[in-house]
Formats: sequence, C-alpha cells, structure tokens
Amino acid sequence: MENYTPSPAVKQTLSQLKALPCIAKALDFLKEDTAPTLKQQIELAKIPAPTYHEKEKALAFCEALKAEGLEDVHLDRFGNAIGLRRGKGAARVIMEAHMDTVFPLGTKLEPRIEGSRVYLPGVNDDTSGLGSILTVIRALNAAGIETEADLYFMGTVEEEGMGGLGGMKKHMSENSYDASISIDGSGFGTIVYGGTGIRTCEINFHSGSGHAAGAFGKVANSLNAAARCVAKIADLQVPPDSGTIFCVSNFHAGNDAGIHAIVGDSQIKINYRSHRQDYLVALHEQIMKAAQEACDEETARWGCETVTWDTVSYVDIPAVSQSADIPLVQALYTVIEDAGLTPKFAVGGATNCTMAINAGIPAVCIGSGGTGGGAHSLDEYNDDTDRHIASGATLLLLLMMAGVAGETAPLAEKKA
Ligand SMILES: [Zn+2]
Repeated sequence: MENYTPSPAVKQTLSQLKALPCIAKALDFLKEDTAPTLKQQIELAKIPAPTYHEKEKALAFCEALKAEGLEDVHLDRFGNAIGLRRGKGAARVIMEAHMDTVFPLGTKLEPRIEGSRVYLPGVNDDTSGLGSILTVIRALNAAGIETEADLYFMGTVEEEGMGGLGGMKKHMSENSYDASISIDGSGFGTIVYGGTGIRTCEINFHSGSGHAAGAFGKVANSLNAAARCVAKIADLQVPPDSGTIFCVSNFHAGNDAGIHAIVGDSQIKINYRSHRQDYLVALHEQIMKAAQEACDEETARWGCETVTWDTVSYVDIPAVSQSADIPLVQALYTVIEDAGLTPKFAVGGATNCTMAINAGIPAVCIGSGGTGGGAHSLDEYNDDTDRHIASGATLLLLLMMAGVAGETAPLAEKKA
C-alpha cells in the first residue's frame, strides 16, 4: 500500500506513551524477560495439543495466567483459556494466540537446542504467541501499568486444519470486544488485517454396485460420477489476482479386494479459497453444479438408475476485510515503523483475526518476533534473538488501543 500515512492523532498517542517512565520500565523489562519467556514457552510446547485435544495445555496456560495475577481465569465453554486484567472499563481489548498444533498425539515433543534455535514441534506456531502474551502481562505488572480499557488474554482452541478457526469463532459468537490482537507465528512486521475465505468440503457419490462383469450395464458407477466431477472441477476458471484457488485433495473409492467390482460409494474432498467472499460463494456453487452434472451424465450414460450425491462441509471460513484506515491498523503500522521495520500489508490471511473481523470487531494479527521456521513440520523451530523488539511493539500496540490510566486515551472505541 503506497503512501500509507497514519493520522497525527495515532502518532501522537505513541509519542505520549513513549514519554512515560512506566513504559520505559516495561520495555526494559521485556529485554530481561526474553530468556524466561522462552523457557516457559518450551514447557507449554511440550504438552501435546493437537486440535480438539488442547485441554491439558489450556489448563497449564490458565495456571500461567493466574500466576501473573489475572482475574476470572477459566476455560470458556468451548475450551479457550481466558483471563482478565482489569482496567477502568473504558473498552474491552483482547489479545490471543492459539494453543493447538498440527501434531498428532504421540508426536515426540522434546526440545533440541542448536545455537539460538530451539527445535520443537509447535514451539513457534503458535506457542511463541502464548509466550508473547505472558511476557507482555509480566511487563505491565513489572512497570505497574494500569489501563483505561479492560484487557483480556486468551489461549484459543481449534485454530488449525479441521478446527477452522473454530475456537475463536465460537468465543466471538458469545463475547464482544472493541479491539482484537492475534499473535501467530514469529514473523513481525507484516500487518494481517483481513482474512482469506477457506472452505473444505466432501462430496459423496452413490450408485448401485455389483460384479464388474455381472452388473455391467445394469448399474451406474459412483466412481465414474466422482471422476466426471473431478474433471469438471479441474476445468473451472477462477478470477485472477484474487487469491482464488481450488484443489481436489482426496479421492476415495473402491478397494483391492473388489478390483473386479462396480463401486457403490465414492468420495472426493475439495479445498478452495478466495480473498473475496463473493468469488468464494460463486466457486462453491460451481463445484456443487459440477457434482450434479456429473451425476446426471453418469445416470444418462447407463440409463438404468439415478446416481445421487450429498456433501459435508468441514471448514467454512468467510473471506473478510476491513479498511486499512481503522485506528488499530494505523497503530500497528506506527509501532512497526517505530521498531525500525518497514510495515508490509498482507493480502488476506488465515488467522484467528478473520473470526474477530467477521464478528464486527476491529482486529489484526501480528507475529511474536525473533524468527522461526519449519511450521507444521517436525523440524519446527523458534529463534528468540532480538525478540524483545517485537514484544515491545506488541506492548505499545496494546497500550495504544487500551490507554494508560490517566495518561493516554484508548484508541479502542467502546461500542455503544
Ligand atoms: Zn498458527
């Protein structure tokens, strides 16, 4: 985005904050707290937490929130771990990171340290976000900072894969905030302020079945219908430059014992995405139309029975967008620049911030700082070198939105 300029009021809020002695104290604290944070992050990442199995890690995160003096620490009815750092009630600001990982139960979770890197599945995505939350709370406490807004800190379930940002979606369906800051992964400097729409669905095709020879011509073949559908999907055209993609990622039909059998049930799975919700909806309709046409053609080919289909939706994340001019985005831009980096605007995104935006809450997603790599692989690592720079910027962003009691006005606007 060329010529992006945050408003003078937003810049002034940051200057005011940075002039406060308590802020200098908090920023100093963050430098000292990098090593203890990493230690705590490793302990949390050692707890298995594949999507839908986050409870043990959630309880450990609750204990960590309690240890920092948060109020009302609990698991919400969806399993998200949340606590309150009470301010003066001027607004409600939430900061969250997800607890779940892509690693199944039984994955060896032993840290391996090489130089400044810690290799451990989940240590970066997104236990580094949980670490950032805890160090920010400690910095607020160490510097005795009271806020105008009430601060909520949350570890979220069901972000990854089949979870489909479910923990955040469910939490936001029952709770209201005036600003939401997600922390996911390490890369700091990119502004995620929208969300790519993502859908995953299964289509099942049903026909009669029987012996490859004996039933030939007497029944249709669900596998043929599925294949016809895949061929139609393969030929779909999508609008360019809109992040619109599709992928038939799964095809299940038949088995080797039935190598000479007509298959009665066949299944495909499709993952499709777009930065624009109208494109995503149009693509969805085309895929469903392809399924119907495939069944019609297979039915007509044999003329002896009707091939049918049904569909199951696994992930349905809407495409969302916000103006880049909202105070939260301006504030994030300002703190990234202040940290000596050049802010980059992401197009779309696949983070929990999508679900906050979808619920009408101004939201961004940022990285926890340092560096990381190997996300979603067993070679995932986190390197916390210079991480305090991002932690400091995160603290400043939070305080720009929440306001320091008696000193700065919160940029988060309390909903009427
Ligand atoms: Zn993540």
